[in-house]
Amino acid sequence: MIPVIAIDGPAAAGKGTLARRIAETYGFAYLDTGLLYRATGWKVLSAGDDPENPESALKGAQTLAPDDLDNPELRGDETAQAASKVAAIPSVRAALLDFQRNFAEHPPTGAKGAVIDGRDIGTVVFPATPYKLFIIAALEVRAERRLKELRQRGIESIHARVLQDMKDRDARDSQRDIAPLAKAEDAFQIDTTEMDAESVFSAALSYLVSRSLKPAS
Ligand code: C5P
Repeated sequence: MIPVIAIDGPAAAGKGTLARRIAETYGFAYLDTGLLYRATGWKVLSAGDDPENPESALKGAQTLAPDDLDNPELRGDETAQAASKVAAIPSVRAALLDFQRNFAEHPPTGAKGAVIDGRDIGTVVFPATPYKLFIIAALEVRAERRLKELRQRGIESIHARVLQDMKDRDARDSQRDIAPLAKAEDAFQIDTTEMDAESVFSAALSYLVSRSLKPAS
């Protein structure tokens, strides 16, 4: 069995930064599953359709091509909102499940394992993996981080708008009926509110090593 490290948590808690660093340390492939939902949401928006319409959303998910994940437009607030709307539709989640499992079973470039981040990786996509991290941070801190990230990408945004976007998505992601954002019982939780990226990485690495997953030297 190829090892899978599942990393879940709300937006801008620090999952992506941590996932990239862990993937690099272990030589594993990395999949940001938020991009799959964002690309689906983007397809629906650019077709002029409503992301809450199950038929349009499913069509978007079924016609995803690898190139769609490289679109810089995926990072904006509007796409994030559309992503969390398509993500509440069961047929969309089912369509994207195969993509995610296939990625871990056949990681690109012959990697020996996969790091996968999202909302339901430890609970639904890979419930059997023994390596699960749940990353959280206070809402205000997450909004600040996201604002900074958007500005670095040249996307102008205001604090109040980013904060509201985050609240809306938190509510939609944790209250939906299917695969809501939730900590798996056996996940190791890290609250990054007052931590820098380096200490988050050390805490995660200690957990993985304690579960006998050691980086290749
Ligand atoms: O992680 P990111 O903020 O890019 O995800 C965008 C949206 O995609 C989330 O707000 C969530 O609704 C959805 N998502 C999901 N399940 C995942 C990853 C993302 O529902 N595994």
